[in-house]
Amino acid sequence: MGIDYNDVGLQVGLEIHQQLDTSSKLFCSCPTKLFEGPDEELAKVERYLRIGRSETGEVDPAALYEYMKGKKIIYLAPKGHVCTVELDEEPPHELNKEALSVALGISLGFKSKIVDEVYVMRKIVVDGSNTTGFQRTAIIALGGELFDEEGTVRIQTICLEEDAARRVRDLDGSAVYNLDRLGIPLIEISTAPDIRSPEQTLRVASRIGLMLRLTGKVKRGIGTIRQDINVSIKGGSKVEIKGVQNLEIIDKVVEYEVMRQLTLLRLRDEILSRGISRDDIEDKFLDVTEVFKESKSRLIVNNLREGNKVYACVLKGFKGLLKVEVQPGRRFGTELADYAREWGGVSGIIHTDELPGYGISVDEVKRLYSLLGADEGRDAVVMVIGPEGKCTRSLNAVVSRVKEAFIGVPKETRVANDDGTTRYMRPQPGAARMYPETDIPPVRIDENLIREAMKYVPRDPNAVYEELLTKYSLSHELSKQLLRSPYMLYFFDLVKEFSDDVVTPQYIASLLTIHLKGLKSEGIPIENITFDVIKYVLSMLRSGSLSKDGVIEVLREYASDPKKSINDLAKRYVKKDLDEVTRVISKIVESNRDELIKKKDRAFNIVMGLAMKDLRGKVDGKVVADLVRKLLDELLR
Ligand SMILES: [Zn+2]
Repeated sequence: MGIDYNDVGLQVGLEIHQQLDTSSKLFCSCPTKLFEGPDEELAKVERYLRIGRSETGEVDPAALYEYMKGKKIIYLAPKGHVCTVELDEEPPHELNKEALSVALGISLGFKSKIVDEVYVMRKIVVDGSNTTGFQRTAIIALGGELFDEEGTVRIQTICLEEDAARRVRDLDGSAVYNLDRLGIPLIEISTAPDIRSPEQTLRVASRIGLMLRLTGKVKRGIGTIRQDINVSIKGGSKVEIKGVQNLEIIDKVVEYEVMRQLTLLRLRDEILSRGISRDDIEDKFLDVTEVFKESKSRLIVNNLREGNKVYACVLKGFKGLLKVEVQPGRRFGTELADYAREWGGVSGIIHTDELPGYGISVDEVKRLYSLLGADEGRDAVVMVIGPEGKCTRSLNAVVSRVKEAFIGVPKETRVANDDGTTRYMRPQPGAARMYPETDIPPVRIDENLIREAMKYVPRDPNAVYEELLTKYSLSHELSKQLLRSPYMLYFFDLVKEFSDDVVTPQYIASLLTIHLKGLKSEGIPIENITFDVIKYVLSMLRSGSLSKDGVIEVLREYASDPKKSINDLAKRYVKKDLDEVTRVISKIVESNRDELIKKKDRAFNIVMGLAMKDLRGKVDGKVVADLVRKLLDELLR
């Protein structure tokens, strides 16, 4: 099904958050590195969620929502990563000048207008991810633009802010956060809603990411860049999709959100055409446990044994609508289940559009309808299982979501699943949620700061691309791959150092792209491979101590266990000279002579298999193959 995105009036805005690679955090001198060991033994601090109030005294609705969920928060404070600033026991120190310079440099790269004075503000956060109950953020620059072939995209603001604590797990009813990430500088780049298609969203996000990497001052790896996407269509709502970490699904996220909004609008039309009104949907919840007394449904039997109840409510006139697919694999019923889970804490819902199912019989469905006095041909019934309180809270949430369906698309904050579909996260926060941070004096932007910032202005991506093609003679494909690679900047440093007949720019570029990607797809944690490690293996390659295959083997073993000594690894894969390789293969051919003559056709594979067992990584596979072919030729002729 092709969607004409112009026709539906698609508008997309991006908010890109990228961690900066500075030596210390934004408001204290803790390092910007995450704690890596096991965290069970770390010092713990318990807090209850604070509800921030804006200047007007109005409680933020999203804050209130989290408060209603009654969360206790546990903070982990690893030594050397966290000080009293993160714990909110000491006021923040002054704004980190290195982070400010990088942010200014990036702003200049986007032709954004830098403010005269930087004011740090407090932005209320509602999930406990900040010990203070707010996040500190500062506008650095306003306006600016980004060229794209479908049209220029305006930049609205560039902010410098502190990253939040890292949610590591949930412990019955409380959220556990590691404070190591709290305070790492983040740059936030917000575009105007000028993006008009899923493909353009992907291009713009990639280009912003590339420009950030070109500064050489951003972190790389999973979780260091997060994109929020705002999507709206004509007649729909502006929906926020939070924290997309994987750039590759960004176009899918937009495509699926458009699909969802269009379906919800069609659903609304269908509801209205059935002549149902909002008032027909009543928040009347009934204990229907008795219907399932003799049930064969395992799900229900197990729950009843634990003393749980089954509660139900009728959605008048909704029969068949809960199975309408809003995104691939997600139905309107799934949207209702999200609400029940988030607000009521049940694990999901059961609805009559999917029954009989879950071992629930046709007869039970009939009795359910009759107990509720509902019309089996017209109405839908939603059930939840759990203790009474949970059940009524969950059904309340379901009913309020169903009422929204009469209007169309609710204004929501959603979160992306791995396949690009999204699920409900929370209502959208209100607008009034910023107020000044009085602990930090404003910073005047003077010439010194601008001079410092010039070091970090990213180059024009098109110029970099041209340089890869002409100066280094890389192919178009390899150049594009390199520009997408988080290791791109290594290339420019490495070609300065190497670039000879053995270690060519092409080889370096394919090592940083194709080969590292290959290791990653095998599940090897390539983020352990540092610049120094790559430099080391390349110098071994140049001196003839490692073969090209050996380089990969050493990187593979090192990444899998970076505690291993890189020197020892290189020794294990030391390149064998041609005589030695010939001896090894001759010996294999000699001792399997009879078998090889008999199995003539498979002889090559047999010898290769045996030879590589011995020689893998110590000589290039191609050299082995050539020698095997030659020796077998002599034997079999
Ligand atoms: Zn600190």
